[in-house]
Amino acid sequence: IYMPERKAAAGMALTEPTVRQALFTQMGNALDDVYAAGPIIGGKAITGGDMASLVTCPHDRRERLGTVRVTTLDQADQAIARATGASQAWNRIGGEKRAEVLCAAADLFERDHARLMAVIVREAGKTLEDAQGDVREAVDYLRYYAAQARRLFAGPVTQPGPTGERNTLSLNGRGVFACISPWNFPLAIFTGQVAAALAAGNAVLAKPAEQTPITAFLATQLLHEAGVPGDVLQLLPGSGRLGEALVKDKRVKGIAFTGSNETAWSIQRALADRRGAIVPFIAETGGINAMIADSSALPEQVVRDAVRSAFNSAGQRCSAARVLFVQDEVADETIEMLVGAVETLAIGDPFDYATDIGPVIDDSAQDFLDGHKVRMQRQGTQLVDLPLPDACRAGNYVTPAVFEIESLDVLDAEVFGPILHVVRYQRGALPKVIDAINASGYGLTLGLHSRLETVADYVADHARIGNLYVNRNQIGAMVGTQPFGGEGLSGTGPKAGGPHTLLAYATERVRSTDL
Ligand code: GLU
Repeated sequence: IYMPERKAAAGMALTEPTVRQALFTQMGNALDDVYAAGPIIGGKAITGGDMASLVTCPHDRRERLGTVRVTTLDQADQAIARATGASQAWNRIGGEKRAEVLCAAADLFERDHARLMAVIVREAGKTLEDAQGDVREAVDYLRYYAAQARRLFAGPVTQPGPTGERNTLSLNGRGVFACISPWNFPLAIFTGQVAAALAAGNAVLAKPAEQTPITAFLATQLLHEAGVPGDVLQLLPGSGRLGEALVKDKRVKGIAFTGSNETAWSIQRALADRRGAIVPFIAETGGINAMIADSSALPEQVVRDAVRSAFNSAGQRCSAARVLFVQDEVADETIEMLVGAVETLAIGDPFDYATDIGPVIDDSAQDFLDGHKVRMQRQGTQLVDLPLPDACRAGNYVTPAVFEIESLDVLDAEVFGPILHVVRYQRGALPKVIDAINASGYGLTLGLHSRLETVADYVADHARIGNLYVNRNQIGAMVGTQPFGGEGLSGTGPKAGGPHTLLAYATERVRSTDL
C-alpha cells in the first residue's frame, strides 16, 4: 500500500487540566456565539430570515446553538447549474494545484480547531475527546487526499506495451459529485467525502446531515477561504427530500453517501430510475459488528477494548462493537468485569472532561434505543441498567446497557447507541460464530481477542469483514494507515482514507497515438 508522506494532524493532551484550560480560553466566544447556517451557493451564504429554523443541542434541548436555513429546490437547481459550469476548469488545473488548496484548508482547520470542537460538542453532543478526533480526522483526510491527488492526477501516464504507439492513461474528475454525509462525524466524514471528490477534480454539492448543518457550514467556509472556488464547492443543507432531488438529477455524475441502508437502497433505486448515465455510487452503511474473545485472551484487555468499542461516542459509530462473543470457559469472569466497568461510566455533559457518555443525536434515536432496550428485556437478560442523572433529563440521553442474549439472530438491525449484547459460545464453536457473523450480511468491523495466531489467521481467512482488529479496540481507524470501510450490507467500497479511494471519484481515459 502506497503511503505518501504527510504531516499528521496536531493533537492536544486533553488529559492535562492545563491543556484543557488553554483550549477553553482559545474557544473564547465560540461557546456563546449564535450561529447562522444555510446554503452556500456560488460562494455566497444564504442565512437568516423567516425561513430559518432553530438548531438546538442534544445534551439539553432548551439550549440553542443557532439557526439553519434549508435549501429550496430552486436553489439546488441553481447550484447544480453552477457546479456543472465550474467542474471542467477545476478538473483542468490538475492534482498539484488542488492538493495545494486542500493542504491550505487543513492548516485553516487546525487554526480554527477550538471553534470547530466547540460547535461539534454542542451540535452533535460529542465529548471533547471525540470532537478533537473529529477535527484531526478531517485534517488527515485533507492532507492524505491532497497527497493522493499529487500522485494520481499529475497528468497522463505512459503505458508500456508492444503496439509501437504512444499509449497514455489519465484520470479525470467525473463532473459534479453529490456528497451526502452523516451527523456522527459531522466534520470528518463531511470533509472526507468532499476532499476526495475535490481532489479527484469534481465540483461538489455537499448535503450535510440535517442534525449538524452548522459544523458543515463552518467547514465549507474554511474550504472557500483556502481557495476552493465558490461554484466548485456548494453547501446544500436540507432534508432527505433535497438529497432525493440531487440524486434524481442527471447532471449529478456521482454520489458519495454515508448513512443508513434504507437510504442507500433508495439512492440506488433513484439512480436506476433516472435512466441517465450509469454513475458511481459510493456507499458506506451500517454494521452489526462483533468482538470475539476466546479463552486465551486476557479478560482485562477484553473488557477495556469492548467498553471502548461499544460505548465510546455513545456507541454512535458505524465501527462500534454491538455484540461480544465470549468463550464459555471465561465468560463468567469476563462478564463480571465487563459489568463492573460499564457501571463506572459517567453520563453527562460532553463538555465536562469526566463525561464518558454524552447524549445520542435526537429524539428519534433515543426512542429507537429505548424501545430496543424494552425488547431486549424480554428477549435477553439485562446485566447493566444505570439510572439517568437528573442533570441529563432535558437532553437526548440513553444510559449504557449490556444484555446477554442467546444468539445474533435476536438482532435484526443495527443498534446505533450505547448498548452492548453478549453471547456465550462453546469451545470449538468459533467457525459457527464466524458463519453467523457472515450470515448477517454486514461486514464492517470485527474485533478479536486471542493469543493464538492460528485463531487470528482462521478469522482473517473466513470473516467477510472490511476491518479486523486483533487484541485492541475496533474503532477509530486512522486515515491512510487503516483504510476504513466494509462489504456486503456495510457498503460498496472503496475504503475511506485508502490508496484507492480517489479512483472511485474519477474516470479513466486512454489516448493511443500512432507514431
Ligand atoms: N471511521 C470511524 C471509526 O473507525 C467510523 C466511521 C463511522 O462511524 O461512520 O471509528
